[in-house]
Amino acid sequence: MIQQERLQILKEGQPGKGDYVLYWMQASVRTRFNHALEYAAEQANDLGLPLIVAFGLTPGYPEANERSYAFLLEGLRDVQRNLKERGIVFVLRLGHPPEVILALATRASLVVTDRAYLQPSRSWRTWLAERLDVPLIQVESDAVVPIETASGKLEWAARTIRPKIHKRMDGFLVPLEPCPVKVNSLGLIAGVDVSDPAEVLKTLDIDRSVPPGEERGGEDAAQARLSAFVKDGLNHYDERRNNPLVDGASRLSAYLHYGHLSPIDAILQAREAGAAGLDAFTEELVVRRELSFNLCFYNPRYADYDGLPEWCRKTLAEHQDDKREHLYTRAELEAARTHDPYWNAAQNQMVRTGRMHNYLRMYWGKKVLEWSATPQEAYAVLVQLNNKYETDGRNANSYAGINWVFGNHDRPWARRPIFGTVRYMAASGLKRKFDADAYAKKWA
Ligand SMILES: Cc1cc2nc3c(=O)[nH]c(=O)nc-3n(C[C@H](O)[C@H](O)[C@H](O)COP(=O)(O)OP(=O)(O)OC[C@H]3O[C@@H](n4cnc5c(N)ncnc54)[C@H](O)[C@@H]3O)c2cc1C
Repeated sequence: MIQQERLQILKEGQPGKGDYVLYWMQASVRTRFNHALEYAAEQANDLGLPLIVAFGLTPGYPEANERSYAFLLEGLRDVQRNLKERGIVFVLRLGHPPEVILALATRASLVVTDRAYLQPSRSWRTWLAERLDVPLIQVESDAVVPIETASGKLEWAARTIRPKIHKRMDGFLVPLEPCPVKVNSLGLIAGVDVSDPAEVLKTLDIDRSVPPGEERGGEDAAQARLSAFVKDGLNHYDERRNNPLVDGASRLSAYLHYGHLSPIDAILQAREAGAAGLDAFTEELVVRRELSFNLCFYNPRYADYDGLPEWCRKTLAEHQDDKREHLYTRAELEAARTHDPYWNAAQNQMVRTGRMHNYLRMYWGKKVLEWSATPQEAYAVLVQLNNKYETDGRNANSYAGINWVFGNHDRPWARRPIFGTVRYMAASGLKRKFDADAYAKKWA
């Protein structure tokens, strides 16, 4: 049974006379702990119809490149295989996603979809809802506490959303059993075979400037990574997570970004292990991550410098003309050609592997603000580099993380040049936390 708070009717009406129930998979690319999938399966059974799961793949997704498509396709491969075992056909079609779904919906009695948090995919759902003749139900599966249930307004900081999330969290941290389908749909509709994602990748007309990253995608890889973290990393998470030289953080963010992993699944498995780092992990995975959703949902300018809180823009404007000791262009930053070996190392790691450690992301962002002619320019460069190279980029956390660099979700600190009262970070802070010189050497 799916909680009512997870459901939203995007297009009202009674199910029509179609041949199947259609689940438009877009954000929750997995078969485990996918509330939209299980809801669609329940509906199909109630209507005595087969279930079709479809994904529309556009080669033109904003800021996506070969790194992103490789990870995405690996997820689709796992979904195709795992759905097949449940007797459900997976239809992958190339094209503009809502148009792909609209075409398939001409034979559907009902369309179900999952929930996305960023503007491009949210507008696809609106576009589809305006054109469908049958109901469209959205089922939120990638947040522990659904956005509007957690809070009805834009939150200031983790401290303001934390008590709200903690109050509701346990009610949503419950197992989700797979719903067996009564009518097998295998072979009902044809789509692209994605059993060899590397082959499909070759056929796509996409930006090839960034090769696939170090991590492999898909819900099976996500489960393997989660198990390893819960077994070996969680106990020491609190003390090791800020050290980029040890494998102390979960490295789950890319799986969460592509919907290959449910945060509920992750927390339940972590709880079962009963390890020491559970509270710290819950703080990051539920409170901080869902604070990012809150930002992107309630602030329409979440990806825009002018969407930052007024105090941040005011203090940065007051220091706009402060002398910058170092000034770098976007090209110099992208090529890791700065005077700072720690910053260069972090940039190199991100470019080469698709991942930068959390503590370094904060330092990385603060330095770009310090070394840019204007905060607006720094903001644009950070969004471009983050979303181009991070495998988990183009996520709600990307914008919350970048906005944090400029003071969002933070408080004013002691005034200093360039930053005003926005928090500053120095290389000495890195050195206190870990062997920064060893890190710089490793990624030189
Ligand atoms: C400038 C900057 C840019 C960032 N860009 C991204 C990005 O593009 N994509 C992205 O997913 N995260 C981003 N973050 C947030 C954070 O750095 C990553 O989520 C984290 O490093 C992912 O590694 P992990 O999975 O090992 O994290 P863990 O420490 O193991 O945390 C578990 C999960 O909690 C969530 N989480 C952890 N830290 C944060 C945080 N500060 N805010 C919100 N959620 C968090 C993530 O979903 C993460 O996977 C950015 C932070 C900054 C300061």
